[in-house]
Amino acid sequence: HNVVVAPLIAEGQPLGVVCVEHTGRASHIERRVVAMVTQFAAHAALALRNAWLLEQVQRMADTDALTGIANRRTFEDTLLKEISRASRQGEQVTLMMVDVDHFKTFNDTYGHRAGDDALRGVAQALAGGCRVFDTAARYGGEEFALVLPSCSSAESLVVSERLRKRVAGVEAAAPLTASAGVATFPTHASDAEGLIKAADEALYEAKAAGRDRIIS
Ligand code: GH3
Ligand code: MG
Ligand code: MG
Repeated sequence: HNVVVAPLIAEGQPLGVVCVEHTGRASHIERRVVAMVTQFAAHAALALRNAWLLEQVQRMADTDALTGIANRRTFEDTLLKEISRASRQGEQVTLMMVDVDHFKTFNDTYGHRAGDDALRGVAQALAGGCRVFDTAARYGGEEFALVLPSCSSAESLVVSERLRKRVAGVEAAAPLTASAGVATFPTHASDAEGLIKAADEALYEAKAAGRDRIIS
């Protein structure tokens, strides 16, 4: 009996081997089998590489390049999905819009690089301060959005206060503060657009009232 073994390699990583057993005597048959198995392995490796590339592209499309957390597109998809789920199941969804205070001054004083580092720190503080099924996203610039499924207005006060403290604890060129506006579906709005508007208005109030605070 003859056994032909061909390695299966994708992205330079050995993934396994392909074995084919045959009983033929003529060596040209053996060569044919070797060629076939090798070609099969090459196809399999290419398919794996394509799947891997697709995953990378998907991840890049979903995340914000600077901070590595969800981007605005993911945020919008998630908010729509969670609101429709909540309305089916009679649940609540809380949206929190967070904006770093006086960030233009921070950039002007410490430079854009320090500003970028600070934004990465804020992103990690927010993403690390909520539950696994919550979504923390960079909405744009120095503004972040959090989608908190099954979270009531009252529960969100605890979460937002914890997040505000986490932002205050971020190690940056200078201490940072942030303001937040909070709105809950279906209490404050009946759809995603209305919820964003309500949270934005609350955020504006938090800024006007002196910053470093949360208004819901
Ligand atoms: P407020 O407390 O009212 O929010 O004041 P602010 O200065 O934070 O708000 P403003 O909208 O005037 O300025 C936002 C600043 O955020 C301006 C911009 O330079 C900075 N910024 C936005 N995106 C980035 C970024 O990706 N990196 C850095 N370093 N800075 C950014
Ligand atoms: Mg700001
Ligand atoms: Mg802003």
